Amino acid sequence: MKALTVIPLQPGSASLVDLPDPEPSEGELLVDGVALGICGTDIEIVSGEYGWAPPGEERLVLGHESLGRVRTAPSGSDFAEGDLVVGVVRRPDPVPCGACGAGQFDMCLNGEYTERGIKQIHGYGSTMWTVEADYAVRLDASMESVGVLMEPTTILAKAWDHIARIGARAYTEQKRVLVTGAGPIGLMAALLGSQRQLEVHVLDRVESGLKPDLVRDLGATYHHTSIEEAVGECEPDVIIEATGVGQLVFDAMSNTRPGGIVCLTGVSPTGRELTVDAGAVNRELVLENDVVFGSVNANLRHYEIARDALMAADRSWLERLITRRVPLSEFADALDRRDDDVKVVIDLAA
Ligand SMILES: [Zn+2]
Repeated sequence: MKALTVIPLQPGSASLVDLPDPEPSEGELLVDGVALGICGTDIEIVSGEYGWAPPGEERLVLGHESLGRVRTAPSGSDFAEGDLVVGVVRRPDPVPCGACGAGQFDMCLNGEYTERGIKQIHGYGSTMWTVEADYAVRLDASMESVGVLMEPTTILAKAWDHIARIGARAYTEQKRVLVTGAGPIGLMAALLGSQRQLEVHVLDRVESGLKPDLVRDLGATYHHTSIEEAVGECEPDVIIEATGVGQLVFDAMSNTRPGGIVCLTGVSPTGRELTVDAGAVNRELVLENDVVFGSVNANLRHYEIARDALMAADRSWLERLITRRVPLSEFADALDRRDDDVKVVIDLAA
C-alpha cells in the first residue's frame, strides 16, 4: 500500500512510501482508504513542529481525519464489507487514568494517550488501514462525499456538549453564539449552533467569498469587523473561539453577557507577548459568573453526536466546505495551504 509519512520533528520529511499491506489483528477491520482530511495539526506535523512516531520506528503515517470502506470485518462485529467507516483518533492511555478508564479518553489526565497519525500510532493516510471495530464508526452509505468531515465535527460535538453541561449548572441563557474564525472548525461550530436553534454570528477577517456565503447560508450573520463591534451587535451568551489568536482569546473572555461561556478551541503559538489587563479580565469573569474553558479531541459519544449532526445538515452546504480534493500522489499540493482553502481533502482511492 501507499502511505503518506513523515519523520516527526523533521521539517520537509513528508513522503509517499510503499509499506506492506496491513493485516488486521483479531477484532480489527481492514479498510480501503477513501479520503483523508488535512488540518492545521497535519501542517504542524509536516512542518516539524509536532508529532511522535510509533516506538522504535522512524516514520509516522500521517492523517487523523479519516474515511474508508470496509474490506473485511471480524465475524460477529457490527460491520460488513462495503460499510463506510471513520476511525476514532485517540486511544486511552495504558494505565489507564480515571478519565480513560471511564471511556472519556478525550479528557485523559496523565497525557499518556496515543493518537492515530499524531502521537505514537500510525494514522489513516494510506490506501489501506486497519482499525479496531470498537474504534470505528459506521456512516450511512449516502455520506461518501462528506464523511471525511466527521472528525472535525466531533471536536465541535464535544464543545457544544460541554457548553450545554456548563450552562446547566445554574439559570443561564444560550440564545446567541459568536464564533471567531470561519475556518473548518468555526464553520462547524456555526453549523452545530444553528442546529441547536441559537442565533449564530461568525467573525472573520475576509470580506467576501465562500466563507461569508457559507455563514449566511446557515441563516447566520457574518461579521468582518473588530470583535468589539461584533459583540456589540450580537451580545453573545456563548463564544466559540476558533482562531487561537491571543488577542481574540482575551477579547472573547471580556465580551460575553453575564453567565457567559467562552469555549477555546484554537491552539496558539507560544512565546508571543500580549499586554492584557489581567485585573479587568478577572473582574469581568467573577462579577458575571462567566466560564472560560478549553476543549480538544472527542470520545466515542461525540462521534455519535457528530454523525447525527452531519446527517441532519444540508448535504450541499457540507460539500462546499471541501474546497479542494487532491489525489494522494499530489499530497504536497494538499499540504500547501492557500488563502481560499476551507477544507482540503486527499483522495486515497485515486
Ligand atoms: Zn488517560
